[in-house]
Amino acid sequence: MSMSKHVLVVGGGVVGCLSAMVLAERGWRVSLIDQGMLGGEASWAGGGILFPLLPWNYTEPVNQLALAGASLYPMLCEQLLAITGIDPQYQACGMRIMPNYGGEAALQWCQAHGIAAEKKIEKQVESLWLPQVAQVRNPRLMQALHAFLLARGVQIFENVALAPLQAEEGRLTAWPSIGGLRFEADAFILTAGAWSRNLLGAQALYLQVKPMRGQMLLYKLEPGVLPNMIYHEDFYLIPRRDGHIIAGSTVEDVGFDKSTTQEAAAHLAAKAANLLPQLARAPVIRHWSGLRPGSPDNIPVIARHPRFDNLYLNTGHFRYGVTMAPSSADMLAALMSDETPSLDAAAYAFPD
Ligand SMILES: Cc1cc2nc3c(=O)[nH]c(=O)nc-3n(C[C@H](O)[C@H](O)[C@H](O)COP(=O)(O)OP(=O)(O)OC[C@H]3O[C@@H](n4cnc5c(N)ncnc54)[C@H](O)[C@@H]3O)c2cc1C
Repeated sequence: MSMSKHVLVVGGGVVGCLSAMVLAERGWRVSLIDQGMLGGEASWAGGGILFPLLPWNYTEPVNQLALAGASLYPMLCEQLLAITGIDPQYQACGMRIMPNYGGEAALQWCQAHGIAAEKKIEKQVESLWLPQVAQVRNPRLMQALHAFLLARGVQIFENVALAPLQAEEGRLTAWPSIGGLRFEADAFILTAGAWSRNLLGAQALYLQVKPMRGQMLLYKLEPGVLPNMIYHEDFYLIPRRDGHIIAGSTVEDVGFDKSTTQEAAAHLAAKAANLLPQLARAPVIRHWSGLRPGSPDNIPVIARHPRFDNLYLNTGHFRYGVTMAPSSADMLAALMSDETPSLDAAAYAFPD
């Protein structure tokens, strides 16, 4: 029997899967549990852009974690492809930001952060070209992570919902499920995205994570019609390799309501046709929504719970959870091993 410590990861989105992966690589015995399918929520619904939208408008804790996460993706995707045969379709296709992108301040920010950037003038319109901004096809990323975790011996439970925590402090020995099972472990990590507060019950304390709905439209054109991502006034187009184009997104504070609305569809379709006229004639082939784990200033909590010795949180990544997941997982694993993380963890502390 293995003597390694056992960790239970609660929530199988991109943050939970990356946490499980990093801890398994560090020698922990890992179990991962989800109330639905692995990667069936926000991590499936998102766009997979590996960069904050207009990063010069965010604080350093957001950008540092996001840039660090993005830098880990090429290796991560190579490793996932090599082990699982599933290609997350990482591509550094670049992003074009249409006016008003932020002018000189944006260029200065890029220079200070080592991000290649260039002003471009086409048809008298000045845009900002960011050639290195990359994307992944996140549903494929989630499939690859799932297969990888199985290959590494991570025990995965799907369609099992954990119940809100009843314990109040000290050392957590087990987390009960809604159906009355008890999941024992030496340590616990909460990665339940928008649902994280519900799972903590009264021990959510001052944690501020709430669902923020985002709706998306999907189109299909010939591959190559749109070679890069485009951003304009809180709206983006993301071209996949096979010609699919994702148009998004809304940011709506409507609670745990995953329905899609005609109003959002019309709004997104008008913006899509405006940026890429071919989309005016193309049918929308799918319309969906997901619930982001919204947090103040988009700063996640990556920390030990103040009342429990062995309960950790990795949640609240809001608009950039795909981008931040690898660096967040590294930070969490360092904290759990009493190491100093490569980024200062103070900015991601549990709020008091
Ligand atoms: C429309 C949209 C576009 C986006 N675009 C981008 C983008 O381009 N780039 C980017 O980086 N990010 C993007 N995001 C944000 C990103 O998707 C999220 O930040 C990220 O997926 C959060 O991951 P997570 O693992 O915390 O949450 P989730 O993927 O939501 O995972 C949480 C999991 O916890 C499980 N769970 C909940 N309750 C329980 C329970 N009681 N018991 C067991 N399991 C439970 C859920 O079933 C779920 O699978 C976008 C999001 C949306 C919605």
